[in-house]
Amino acid sequence: MNIEERMKSFKKIDAHSHIGTFGGWASCSITPEELIADMDEYNVEKAVICTYPQKESIDACDQYPDRFVGCLWVNPTEGAKVVEAQIRDAVANHNFKAVKLHPLSHAYLANDECVFPVAELCIEMGLPLMIHTGHPPFSLPWSVAQLADRYPQLPICQIHMGHGNGMFVQAAIDMAKKYPNLYLETSGMPMHYKIKEAYETVGSDRIMWGLDAPFHHPTVEMQRTIVSGLTDDQLNDVFYNNAKKFLKL
Ligand SMILES: [Zn+2]
Repeated sequence: MNIEERMKSFKKIDAHSHIGTFGGWASCSITPEELIADMDEYNVEKAVICTYPQKESIDACDQYPDRFVGCLWVNPTEGAKVVEAQIRDAVANHNFKAVKLHPLSHAYLANDECVFPVAELCIEMGLPLMIHTGHPPFSLPWSVAQLADRYPQLPICQIHMGHGNGMFVQAAIDMAKKYPNLYLETSGMPMHYKIKEAYETVGSDRIMWGLDAPFHHPTVEMQRTIVSGLTDDQLNDVFYNNAKKFLKL
């Protein structure tokens, strides 16, 4: 099997992607149909999608319920009542399965007081929380760990597992070793061998593969995972089984 065939041979769940247009520095975009075309080409069964504002992901999940899993991106600084109504509606009426926070985008820390009502609602509703990590000052693993420490019963995924900075990647792994309710998602994290290290030292069910469309190409994200040093059985956990368990799909 060549590498392209090997990439396609693993059935996958993409634990973190977006649809829509991202202007400014990012200057990229992807439609729901373009993402589904990529998913079909690379054997991705479902993609967990989030957008802000929320409407695009809600519409896409309504339109393609078999392919997209909704993760509601909320801004806790809008106030507990507003966010609670958004989450309850997305879960009850659009089958959303998780909540996402991007502390960097909205300028708060993962362990700020404004996050507590969101965390408590997630616990009440049985929803996992997914938090962007890798960018100072707001989106660092240590702040996420303080939230994990406060709410040990809440499963929290560190999206990008620290992202591009080696110190933050190590912190994401170290914090996950310390707190059993912390999980890791691989998109945008450059060091292939850290995927194996996390699988072995954090836990075989606590690291999941993601694409982060449209910011990364599927082949780049898949190849890094395939060359991480894990066996095919272990790769099936990272590519598929772990996201399925984490999101209760
Ligand atoms: Zn993202």
